[in-house]
Amino acid sequence: MFAAADEYGIHIDVDERAVERLLSVTPDDVAAAERLSFARNVFIPLTTACRYTCTYCTYYDVPGEATLLSPAEVREQCRVGADAGCTEALFTFGDEPDDRYTAVHEQLAEWGFESIHDYLYRACEIALEEGLLPHSNPGDLTAEAFADLREVNASMGVMLETTADVDAHSGGRRKTPGQRLNTIRAAGRQGVPFTTGILVGIGEEWRDRAESLLAIRALHERHGHVQEVIVQNVVPNERSDFAKPGVETMRRAVAMARAALPPEVSVQVPPNLSPAAELVDCGIDDLGGVSPVTDDYINPAYAWPDLDGLRSVADAGGCSLVERLPTYARYLPEDVRPSGVDPAPSPTNRDGWIPSAVHDRIRDDDAHGRRLRGVARGDGPLDPRRA
Ligand code: SF4
Repeated sequence: MFAAADEYGIHIDVDERAVERLLSVTPDDVAAAERLSFARNVFIPLTTACRYTCTYCTYYDVPGEATLLSPAEVREQCRVGADAGCTEALFTFGDEPDDRYTAVHEQLAEWGFESIHDYLYRACEIALEEGLLPHSNPGDLTAEAFADLREVNASMGVMLETTADVDAHSGGRRKTPGQRLNTIRAAGRQGVPFTTGILVGIGEEWRDRAESLLAIRALHERHGHVQEVIVQNVVPNERSDFAKPGVETMRRAVAMARAALPPEVSVQVPPNLSPAAELVDCGIDDLGGVSPVTDDYINPAYAWPDLDGLRSVADAGGCSLVERLPTYARYLPEDVRPSGVDPAPSPTNRDGWIPSAVHDRIRDDDAHGRRLRGVARGDGPLDPRRA
């Protein structure tokens, strides 16, 4: 299965007995979490250009139609998000636009940026200036790009989706499992708190799901950087005829993730795409980034629940709902880490997990800093009316 990773020099030995054990896991084998967390974010689709054409994706626009937010638009969206009590600026977009996107490249050059990653760096600075912590998901990145972008990000992410070669990723321009694993490894080597996950229902088998989760675990065991793993089901849309996996499939997949991953790694389902209330007893402890002010631009037909909707999911599982920062508590420096949380061992080549720009933003003596510290401590703001 990891032949695709060989070209990147990634060697992950997946123990066949571990795969078999995982394949036998059921929801009865895992315990429900006591707390369910979420992050309040503003979703900023920096560009809809993407070099790939995954068959289930409605996010990307073809050359000539792709949009690119201006710095002023980024700032405005950040202000709206900060005013609504958000803590996270979520920069999620496709993989670096290739040469076909001449208009995007020309616009970036006119603004003085060499690449979308160069522009992302500036967008993250704007988010920090406006009181938000950036969490960027810009697709596959090299170690050099992580070394650069980590300086302005609280955490970053990319979905592994699957280690299998599936037709959904086929075509002339396609992302590969090897590239994704390489990106997750590069993030670990650069000491970036990281979010990844699997996508259920794009043609992969149960064994592929087990192997994908074990591959994520193996990379986390090497670098200690995986803070959460999303178990996301594919959803029908105008570009895709993939069927949405049923509840029993998702219950088994979530339980498998909980059993596969060490306890410090959260298991997340997106509450606008998944029947979260019916999965809450299968080991999930996070509902991901939820926005009170913007759509899920990746899945625009699926609205995020409001705070009451999140509370009803927590109630269904008999657990409490807590708000968190995009960076999980154990990666935060001591002075802003909640008491009682053990720190993650420091990355090998860094002083800490978050950069000084993010640390300073959290410590700032202004309304944004107070909001960020309150969420970091776990005592609010949960209710925006009290923010
Ligand atoms: S899923 Fe991601 S990589 Fe694939 S086409 Fe959409 S934006 Fe690009």
